[in-house]
Amino acid sequence: MEMNDDIKERLKECGLKNTKHRKAILDFMFCSRVPASAEQVYIQMNGQGTSIDLSTVYRTLETLREKGLLIKHDRLNDTRALYEYNRMEHKHYLVCLGCNKMLPIKDCPLAEYERALEKATNFVIAGHKLDIFGYCAECQEKGLQE
Ligand SMILES: [Zn+2]
Ligand SMILES: [Zn+2]
Repeated sequence: MEMNDDIKERLKECGLKNTKHRKAILDFMFCSRVPASAEQVYIQMNGQGTSIDLSTVYRTLETLREKGLLIKHDRLNDTRALYEYNRMEHKHYLVCLGCNKMLPIKDCPLAEYERALEKATNFVIAGHKLDIFGYCAECQEKGLQE
């Protein structure tokens, strides 16, 4: 219940109409603990009985991203971006180049470094982005890391 209210509220704050597709996609993104691709969202939507085509999924994800409701993670080596619900948290990820999955890292390794940098350079740091790329245990088993 709380989750639905939060989502409705955030759509309203952004000046977006609460359409069936936007709500269904945001609901899914809210519940998903790891970032998802447009294809994954498309499969999930149609699996749960929300009929929607892939281009509408793309368009809706982009609209929600433009309004700051979703975060988009671009990939290093291909065009399949992943989206996640913007919980306004500071997060870093291990990104698997084999299967596209993203695992959140518990802590921020750069907090202390930022403070040292500020002192050394007299630069006021506003933030940073960091993702670490590699291969997960399952992909290593499949020999995908070469
Ligand atoms: Zn993998
Ligand atoms: Zn950080």
